[in-house]
Amino acid sequence: MAGFDPASLPDLLPLYYRRIFPFALYGKWLRYGDVLKNYFQRREFSFTLHDDIYVRYQSFNSPQELEKEIQKMCPYKIDIGAVYSHRPIQRNTVHMGAFQAQEKELVFDIDMTDYDDVRRCCSSAEICSKCWTLMIIAIRIIDRALVVDFGIKHRLWVYSGRRGVHCWVCDDHVRKWSSTLRSAAVEYLTVVKGGEDTIKKVTLSDNIHPFISESVELVTKYFEEYALVGQDILGSKESYEKVLALVPETVRDELLQEFSRKQHDSVQRWQVLKKYLKKYDVKSQKTEWEIMLQYCFPRLDINVSKGINHLLKSPFSVHPKTGRISVPIDLQKLDEFDPFAVPTISRLCHELDSVSNVEGTEKENEGEPECPRRSKDYKKTSLAPYVKVFEQFLEGMEKSHTKERNKASDMQLEF
Ligand SMILES: [Zn+2]
Repeated sequence: MAGFDPASLPDLLPLYYRRIFPFALYGKWLRYGDVLKNYFQRREFSFTLHDDIYVRYQSFNSPQELEKEIQKMCPYKIDIGAVYSHRPIQRNTVHMGAFQAQEKELVFDIDMTDYDDVRRCCSSAEICSKCWTLMIIAIRIIDRALVVDFGIKHRLWVYSGRRGVHCWVCDDHVRKWSSTLRSAAVEYLTVVKGGEDTIKKVTLSDNIHPFISESVELVTKYFEEYALVGQDILGSKESYEKVLALVPETVRDELLQEFSRKQHDSVQRWQVLKKYLKKYDVKSQKTEWEIMLQYCFPRLDINVSKGINHLLKSPFSVHPKTGRISVPIDLQKLDEFDPFAVPTISRLCHELDSVSNVEGTEKENEGEPECPRRSKDYKKTSLAPYVKVFEQFLEGMEKSHTKERNKASDMQLEF
């Protein structure tokens, strides 16, 4: 990753946590309107320190205390865990078995490495603008299902900082979901099944569920440009053989011959494939969709979603390898989101330095307490638009909490 040296983290993290990390908004998020008693205090945070020293079960009395501790420890990475029955820091003082994870956001983790069998441009930790489309499709499909099929309101989508995205579902009732419910939700959202040895990973039933048809509609918008042009999935013998392994045998040989005979590109070959399917395959539509979904449908890490106590990297944490910040993604501008434009910690610190040099001669805000001024220094950096997205997400949640409180006080008045 050009321009970032992980060895510089010890120098940059103190400045990042002192002046750029949006602690005020972050604390507001995790307090959830202080509706439940000690909610923030019972939340687990984990820190990864230098040399991969990993400290779990940290908890704090207030967001201010968390801020101070982060500024003192300067973690390379921050993870957020569950809200427990007791304060995680005091877990050894309660009876064995009494310390239980009670609530957490429903989270999704989508990682580009899980698509290695269907992308040709990159492999493992690498990503490029071509395969990034897979993340856009994943967000569109999962987010639509969350909102329309599950009736969920508050979702925070975040770039992981390297090769994937996370989603934090924050609705009050969803944070209470059991592990069984979480598994059921992931099951509903999973279409691509089987590991490396499974050739055909998508098998649709004869009655197409609306979730599938809605998802196919979204995939269709990207399929030609992404899969046929960008990945050229029917371009070479090696790659079209992989696609043809997914069609019924009755059509496969005909298509293999047709593809080897004519010098067509992927877009033309896709048309040929559809034509042959229509002619020889009674379930042609289904086969076509199965191919599209195998190449484009989101692949979720089920374990991250189902466990209430599973940790996930926090928004605004730094990716220790790339230096990029885990920033919220604006769904209104999803197609324009560019992972390579996401600021690195070194860029942010540099931006702040340049501003400070200009301001250096001015008097340092005489008489005004230091914190309020400092805590909004991110506004002087390229992190600002991403913090704005976070702010909008919080405003939505706050509206829901106000509505709930009003409803509760109306009910009291009635009695
Ligand atoms: Zn790529």
